[in-house]
Amino acid sequence: MNKNAPAGLYIHVPFCIQKCRYCDFYSFPKGEEYFEKYKNRVIEAIDFYQKKYARRYNSLYFGGGTPLLLGEKRLFEIMEAAGPFLTQDAEVSAEGNPGAAERVDFSVLRSAGINRLSFGLQSSSDNELSALGRIHTAKEAEETVKAAQKAGFDNISLDLMLGIPYQTKESLLESIAFCDSLGVSHISSYILKIEEGTPLSKSDLRFLCANEDEVSDLYLLACEELSRRGFSQYEISNFAKEGKRSFHNLRYWLDGEYVGIGPSAHSFMEDRRFYTDRNIKSFLTVPFEENEREESSGGGWEEFAMLRLRLSDGLDTGELSKKFPEAPANEILERAKPFENPGLLKINGKNIAFTPKGFLLSNALTAEILYD
Ligand code: SF4
Repeated sequence: MNKNAPAGLYIHVPFCIQKCRYCDFYSFPKGEEYFEKYKNRVIEAIDFYQKKYARRYNSLYFGGGTPLLLGEKRLFEIMEAAGPFLTQDAEVSAEGNPGAAERVDFSVLRSAGINRLSFGLQSSSDNELSALGRIHTAKEAEETVKAAQKAGFDNISLDLMLGIPYQTKESLLESIAFCDSLGVSHISSYILKIEEGTPLSKSDLRFLCANEDEVSDLYLLACEELSRRGFSQYEISNFAKEGKRSFHNLRYWLDGEYVGIGPSAHSFMEDRRFYTDRNIKSFLTVPFEENEREESSGGGWEEFAMLRLRLSDGLDTGELSKKFPEAPANEILERAKPFENPGLLKINGKNIAFTPKGFLLSNALTAEILYD
């Protein structure tokens, strides 16, 4: 790792207006009593990790939770603290829930240096939204995107979900058309996973979710329709207009370094992977280093290959063997060949790239080609 290269900064904001039925993220409803303390602690953490790693950041991502709930003034203060460590061209994103957006002044966020917004739309059907326990309607989402655009945001991403209760092929196409009509530049399209312990996993609504075959059809349909509308796929679940790939998210798949701040936030710095304990009280009170939990050490050839295979650009086995002489690069290329004809991947010279059909089977396919 080059210790002088810019890294990414992730700031987790674990507050939401209410918990969505399917959500397994570390977030909890309301939490206003924590907002001020939380903002101050995040600023202390920025300072702490700056002293520890002395890095510049060329991306900053406020994720959640619903970061916009902190309000523009607190986000502005966090940006003032992070600003001196950001490169001039840094991509600075904030996630938001369209139902929480009326609480913020987008022009203040813009002047704070935030230049990209990502909203959890999930669907343009109010019936589907209410089944998910989302707090907003499609109309509110439209108003939110327009308010952000009016304030000067031209890099906006919307999230869609696949396989949700009541969704049909037609309603999915309508949701995609809805996003496109709003002129956004990026769409993330995730397959709903029913996580154990969530309200959805215990509700009869789960029986209205698409089965495996139906989800596969929805995924392939979304890939095709998004591409037809000029959103080119660059990762299993991510699609962007020309020049609008999420720089921060790409860093995760390109094995770049990042510091994560806030409970449950993950970091990968100087060949070490760790995360902060999933507990807001300990984030607020325990010294930062004592709150770090180890993950398996990162940076090996397997991790490099797996992350690259998530990207439409794929894995360059030539690059793999240069970076990791111990990696079985030639064998990987040989093992990939039988999957080209069935249309699961494409091989170009030494490069292997999964197709949308291959992405659907990515775990199994990755295991097949990486290991004997
Ligand atoms: S808004 Fe996002 S983080 Fe909050 S509960 Fe819903 S899915 Fe979870």
